Amino acid sequence: MPQNALAVAERALLEERRRLTREEAAAVAAVPLDRLPDLVALAHRVRLEWCGPEVELESLINAKSGACPEDCAFCSQSARFETEVDVYPFLDLDQVLEAAHATKAAGATQFCIVVAVRGPEERLLRKVIDAVGVVQAETGLEVACSLGLLTPEQAERLAAAGVRRYNHNLETCREVFPRICTTHTYDDRVQTARLAIDAGMELCCGGILGMGETLEQRVDFAFELAELGPCEVPINLLDPRPGTPLADQTVLSPREALQAIALFRLILPDAWLRLAGGRERVLGELQAMGLLAGANALIVGNYLTTIGRSPEEDHALLEALGMPVADGPGEGRFVVDADGAHARPARITIPVAAE
Ligand code: SF4
Repeated sequence: MPQNALAVAERALLEERRRLTREEAAAVAAVPLDRLPDLVALAHRVRLEWCGPEVELESLINAKSGACPEDCAFCSQSARFETEVDVYPFLDLDQVLEAAHATKAAGATQFCIVVAVRGPEERLLRKVIDAVGVVQAETGLEVACSLGLLTPEQAERLAAAGVRRYNHNLETCREVFPRICTTHTYDDRVQTARLAIDAGMELCCGGILGMGETLEQRVDFAFELAELGPCEVPINLLDPRPGTPLADQTVLSPREALQAIALFRLILPDAWLRLAGGRERVLGELQAMGLLAGANALIVGNYLTTIGRSPEEDHALLEALGMPVADGPGEGRFVVDADGAHARPARITIPVAAE
């Protein structure tokens, strides 16, 4: 019964310390939006209890932009759509390094090298591997990569090169995916996510909300992600890009977005839940609420094809919220749940500001 759903979820997650069943999560999703403050408050308590108060910061570099052969309907980097996105080949090493230094200066601890491709061809992979080594050596940042679909051998080479975390989003739930992309399958994506874990990298795997999926499908999506055991789940909120098939998609309301973030926290209680692209456009003045609704990580600076706000504004926001900045995505030590099913890096933190 929806009225009891929040109490059931609270007992499961905070007293019994177990994950929600699909039915329990569906009941929470059915709680009317006028009870959103109660859902948000529960998600925040779950985040504090399972993850602590820290917020992890990451920056991205779009190291190779546009001209992607795939047809993901939300993406302005597809060569199949008429968009105004910048098109350039893999950046020079100096440019990647400059962005990494800027990441460090912005107080982020993780730097993700992203390229717009179906999957990396040999020359590109070698350039990325070179860049990973140089960035690590010169900045000490943790390096993540997002290079599309991988072969087992490519995943192993990236892991051996020191790539800590591999990002590969499922983008949306299995049911909706064929409407969003026809040039590769949902199972292709699942396979690469699994390959990354098998090769020894941490998995960063999330997607985009607001692409026409129903609330139930959002819940399905969160459970499909949970099945993969990602240590990080980026949540993008669709900011429709001109020229793409989703250009006219109605954006989520701030309340729908906050409800979804809170549901993701309840379904993925121990993941780094990262607010990514679209938070400025969709949440607007309620951005702080995203961090009180269960999110505990941010992309700082710009996104792949859109401009974010300044890192200083995000630091000021975290300070106002009293949320310390995590000093990294963990140190390679792992904690394991009581059921032994999920492992994630232990977190160490530094305070962001003196009281
Ligand atoms: S989301 Fe990735 S694979 Fe899909 S079109 Fe954009 S760059 Fe290509």
